[in-house]
Amino acid sequence: MNSIHHWIDGRTVPSTSGRTGPVFDPATGEQSGAVDLASAEEVDAAVAAAAAAYPAWRATSLSARAEVMFRLRELVDANRKEIAAQLTAEHGKVLSDALGEVARGLENVEFACGIPQLIKGEFSEQAATGVDVHSIRQPLGVVAGITPFNFPAMVPMWMFANALACGNTFVLKPSEKDPSVSLLLAELLARAGLPAGCFNVVQGDKVAVDRILEHPDVAAVSFVGSTPIARHIYETGTANGKRVQALGGAKNHMLVLSDADLDMAADAAVSAAYGSAGERCMAISVVLAAEQIADELVGKIAERIPSVKVGPGTEPDSEMGPLITAEHRDRVAGYVGGAAEEGATIVVDGRDGAPGEGFFLNPTLLDGVRPGMACYDDEIFGPVLSVVRVEGYQDGLETINANPFANGTAIFTRDGGAARQFQFDVSVGMVGVNVPIPVPVSYYSFGGWKASLFGDTHMYGPEGVNFYTRGKVVTSRWPDPATSSIDLGFPETR
Ligand code: NAD
Repeated sequence: MNSIHHWIDGRTVPSTSGRTGPVFDPATGEQSGAVDLASAEEVDAAVAAAAAAYPAWRATSLSARAEVMFRLRELVDANRKEIAAQLTAEHGKVLSDALGEVARGLENVEFACGIPQLIKGEFSEQAATGVDVHSIRQPLGVVAGITPFNFPAMVPMWMFANALACGNTFVLKPSEKDPSVSLLLAELLARAGLPAGCFNVVQGDKVAVDRILEHPDVAAVSFVGSTPIARHIYETGTANGKRVQALGGAKNHMLVLSDADLDMAADAAVSAAYGSAGERCMAISVVLAAEQIADELVGKIAERIPSVKVGPGTEPDSEMGPLITAEHRDRVAGYVGGAAEEGATIVVDGRDGAPGEGFFLNPTLLDGVRPGMACYDDEIFGPVLSVVRVEGYQDGLETINANPFANGTAIFTRDGGAARQFQFDVSVGMVGVNVPIPVPVSYYSFGGWKASLFGDTHMYGPEGVNFYTRGKVVTSRWPDPATSSIDLGFPETR
């Protein structure tokens, strides 16, 4: 069985905590590994390594830091298949999805290659007579990233690429459910020339997270995961004086107006609801169908579902893999049964005929779902798509805006005016127009509103650079000492 350890100060470090957690191959249901679960002292060792590496890394020139990112870009690119295989082995996602994850993570490394341009300050000559003012952005110090199981390569890259390029050193606490890929990324960073101690991985659970949140030498925490934990991270981290961005869960609605191309909308709904077995924070979990077209749209989605090929991610023709654990699969299946009891119609029941011994569930389609039902109110995070019937645009918009989650949303329509009005009206952080999964490209920033994000800054892109740096403004003058005099008045600029 595979033993999965920490990465501290540039090398693999086995834990001495005496605690481990099981790692499964979700496609077979068998345990494939045991991951170390760190003690507080092991977190301290990782933070100490990062703190020791910080002064020299911070002083490293911008072009040398950019060069590390360029080399990392080449290494991740060359190792796409190996990283993807690792994702499939522990997360279960199919190869095409795993390769997509690597590609979208890599975009963030590419963005960070431009750090000399991104971190430029401003300069005002002659702000007052003989006085110049300029602004600079400086790194924070040791920053930590705590990441979820569903994107074990991409989400760490969202964080560490910008954090390191800005001159910080980093401690990553990956999900204990699929921890191995973090070590592959650590090795690639070392091969890219990142000095030892600049990037560390602490495997673990709540014990490690709580120590990160209270450690006095951790300046900032980036978190991605479920809403209750995001709230805890934000409240505890900020109470301890840290800068925190904590991205939470989601319930993403796709509003289909009566003029939409229904075949295109049905294709998009199936892709966005069942891709990665619905374990994406940007998955579509609710279709809001305008009354006039609802029957037809439900029929078109239902007729597509049998063609979704469910199977192990290692098989090239599989389109949807298993769920992450047996408990999670059972929890998702519980929502399907619960929906029927609450009065929804099960149009396609994914509990029937799931393949093999692994944590599989087939796609489920529910109709007649309403707010107030558990299958609507909760984030299910599995291959379950709920259809809520709405009168039209206004009813659909109000349903979305009443939902506490606000990560992503999409409108499907051929009416440009309605689409424009939607992006103006909707209280959600990321909006798609005929695009079901509107994950922003790396030179914009990613983040929801309301219960989907705690903190002020979105992740990656320009907001990521802002999060991982703080501003300083310098006012300077070089007067002739002969003109110096005492003046107790408050300095004016005119
Ligand atoms: P999770 O909240 O259970 O775990 C996330 C991280 O927090 C893991 O590293 C985990 O070890 C740690 N953690 C778990 N319980 C903890 C506790 N009690 N105290 C301290 N730390 C704890 O999330 P998950 O199940 O790994 O991931 C799925 C969730 O992540 C979904 O809710 C999904 O919507 C969300 N997600 C959100 C985004 C986004 O960008 N908004 C992206 C991906 C995933």
